[in-house]
Amino acid sequence: MAAIEFEDLKARVSSGEIDTVLACLVDMQGRLLGKRFHAQHFIDSGYKETHCCNYLLATDIEMNTVEGFKASSWSQGYGDYVMKPDLSTLRPLPWLEGTALVLCDVIDHNTHTDVDHSPRALLKKQVERARRLGFDPMMATELEFFLFKGRYEEIRQEGYRSLTPVSDYIEDYHILQTTKEEVVMRPLRNHLYAAGIPVECSKGEAAAGQEELNIRYAPALDCADFHAIAKHATKEIAWHAGYAASFLAKWRADEVGSASHIHQSLWRDGANAFWDADADYGMSQTMQHYLAGLIQYAPQFFYFLAPYINSYKRFVRNSFAPTTLTWSLDNRTAGFRICDANGANVRIECRLGGSDLNPHLALAAQLAAGLAGIEEKLELPAAIDGNHYADKRPALDKECAPNTLTEAIVNLREGRAARQAFGDAVIDHYVNAAMWEQEKYDSAVTDFELRLGFEQA
Ligand code: ADP
Repeated sequence: MAAIEFEDLKARVSSGEIDTVLACLVDMQGRLLGKRFHAQHFIDSGYKETHCCNYLLATDIEMNTVEGFKASSWSQGYGDYVMKPDLSTLRPLPWLEGTALVLCDVIDHNTHTDVDHSPRALLKKQVERARRLGFDPMMATELEFFLFKGRYEEIRQEGYRSLTPVSDYIEDYHILQTTKEEVVMRPLRNHLYAAGIPVECSKGEAAAGQEELNIRYAPALDCADFHAIAKHATKEIAWHAGYAASFLAKWRADEVGSASHIHQSLWRDGANAFWDADADYGMSQTMQHYLAGLIQYAPQFFYFLAPYINSYKRFVRNSFAPTTLTWSLDNRTAGFRICDANGANVRIECRLGGSDLNPHLALAAQLAAGLAGIEEKLELPAAIDGNHYADKRPALDKECAPNTLTEAIVNLREGRAARQAFGDAVIDHYVNAAMWEQEKYDSAVTDFELRLGFEQA
């Protein structure tokens, strides 16, 4: 969905309203990376293509080069990728003066095709797979995050030791407390809306200082693009206002973590193909197979919902973060919750993913799992009522979600459906990224270990 057409951009550049165009790719961590173009150069020639070092899709979160990637390495000399602006994503960014944004596809110089492990390319491929089956995937991601007093720079200088959330009390649905946060949230809603991102609402969330942003469901690629831009906007707008927004999945052991629930439905001919008025709970056969695929293949795709060591700290009993690969009707303790059961808008909410997920990768993974369920006509296990935490402890129970990054890495590496959907080279690429994250963590000595063992070990 374009907020503005290219011709409109030209007019705005002529009038002086826009002088800068950001051309960005979405990296492995879901961040916007790219260049700031002088707007005149962009409309003269930059819109055709630009270039970036190919290490941008082979770094860790700190932008270190990482060994073991086949696609780019020191021995291959870290060459270029083409960044091809997708002009359908062109939009003004009203919170940055005189600035517009375009998202880019990442293209291989030699083959002139999408770089397979590029997050946008992976999602586009799964959307095409859905279309071949006759479906248009419609998705919405929720963005939960914490707002802290002070900017990132100050907080970093203090060694992240005196983190102070903007609120002193749980602010779930609270209007009074969130009024105090409107200095960030009002411009966030309004600027995103003006940028063509259909914000529905924001609300206080389940902990002190926790906010949630909801964006209206949209075709899957738009949904992921909206998420990446909205997350970036949240950080920038909070920074401008003197606050820090954190999408870390779990910032404190005794607080709930932040999620990114994924709402999903498949549509055919403009109508929800998950809806069948005559079926149990209004869940069509298509929906049942799709949900069966999400559950069956969740272990192998789990890494894309929880990509870091920290992601796994969120999965705690009775915390609203699920620990099981189970489904239920309107039930927030299940990994997969059915919303609007018996209604025409019946859909699946995957509650497993953390706020640290990469939206393009997560949506691609959800689609890959669900579509495999349709293709293989998988049978849906029975729904489970009641508290899904009660007797499902993190253990080697097949209904339990992976409990550590190591478990998710092994599942991804060995996963047949994941390899079939994404291709061996792509899976090996992300396994390498995940193993590096694990290796870095394994070599760290943490304050937890010092506290426990310094004297007593
Ligand atoms: P919750 O019960 O979690 O509060 P909401 O009613 O706020 O859920 O809806 C959450 C998200 O679901 C919204 O972003 C909304 O646009 C999205 N949504 C609504 N209908 C559909 C659908 N058919 N497919 C996918 N997402 C949908």
